[in-house]
Amino acid sequence: MKYIDEFRDGDLARQIGARIAAEAHPDRSYSFMEFCGGHTHAISRYGVLELLPPNVRMIHGPGCPVCVLPIGRIDLAIRLALERGAIVCTYGDTMRVPASDSLSLIKAKARGGDIRMVYSAADAMAIARANPQREVVFFAIGFETTTPPTALAIRDAAREGLSNFSVLCCHVLTPSAITHILESPEVRQLGTVPIDGFIGPAHVSIVIGSAPYDHFAEEYRKPVVIAGFEPLDVMQAILMLVRQVNEGRAHVENEFTRAVTPEGNLKAQALVSEVFELRPSFEWRGLGEVPYSALKIRETFAAFDAERRFDLSYTPVADNKACECGAILRGVKKPTDCKIFGTVCTPENPVGSCMVSSEGACAAHYTYGRFRDIPIVPAAATEEVTP
Ligand code: SF4
Repeated sequence: MKYIDEFRDGDLARQIGARIAAEAHPDRSYSFMEFCGGHTHAISRYGVLELLPPNVRMIHGPGCPVCVLPIGRIDLAIRLALERGAIVCTYGDTMRVPASDSLSLIKAKARGGDIRMVYSAADAMAIARANPQREVVFFAIGFETTTPPTALAIRDAAREGLSNFSVLCCHVLTPSAITHILESPEVRQLGTVPIDGFIGPAHVSIVIGSAPYDHFAEEYRKPVVIAGFEPLDVMQAILMLVRQVNEGRAHVENEFTRAVTPEGNLKAQALVSEVFELRPSFEWRGLGEVPYSALKIRETFAAFDAERRFDLSYTPVADNKACECGAILRGVKKPTDCKIFGTVCTPENPVGSCMVSSEGACAAHYTYGRFRDIPIVPAAATEEVTP
């Protein structure tokens, strides 16, 4: 197949769905986690669940970059803008994630903070060049996909001597999060989140390759199928997982061969390891502190590290009590389990991070789900729940 619409062919999707239904044993259930928010979005948008038999269940994972960003990290960025006078640059979705004191970056901008939406770290560098008298901080978030461009910006800034540019680094790592989920009580002891296999991320795997997932197949006996983001990719990956489970196999298979290799992008990996090193621990929204799950800027590039430059210290902040994002990101609950889903909490008025980005489980369910019969609560009621 050459063109994108071929990967969205409804007839083919139904044929794969029929194959899944034929091969899934009716006397057992299959639970697969799609780690990545891109897959969550595709599953909701294209109605993939409706093509699956009832005994094949998909569980949303924590692979949505803005969803896992804890409130305390957004607070740091807001304080840089409001209290330290820095120009803070970040990606669009990050601007709307709820933070402390009923703020978000976009609300902090309305209070006078110089906060700008950018499409890349290179855009933030351009702003730094254009404003040599101001401190410019790039609030860098995301998984392994967005890390190499941040590394490149830091290395280029060092070469160029761009002394008013720095990065608030919140880049996180996929394999550590999968390990954390597999080691969680819900999966390991309680069995409340049965996981028979994973759909592995698409874009992340282009960078890191398929090899890092071998550990999950070998040590945890969980099959992994790396899949592209189109609906046929996802359907095919589910079929491949069903077959592995039926055959008692636990291997890493690559459905996304048009872009992913076993070794990944070695140049990007070398660049990332030149600029970043592992953090001993990092707080994820929903998962708590996860060891060796994020990156920090190496000492060699300390001048471009906003945490060192502004002497920032991290303070954890609890999520809104009404919000179930934490449980959703661990696969323990579904968006519709949240009492304020689609009523108080909507994409226009997100109470939690999972309702912000189109990759967030709550936003995907709200946008593409069948929830139009949920009564809309009066505006006054929305004021009772604030982060
Ligand atoms: S619906 Fe809103 S408040 Fe509820 S879990 Fe999702 S993001 Fe959090």
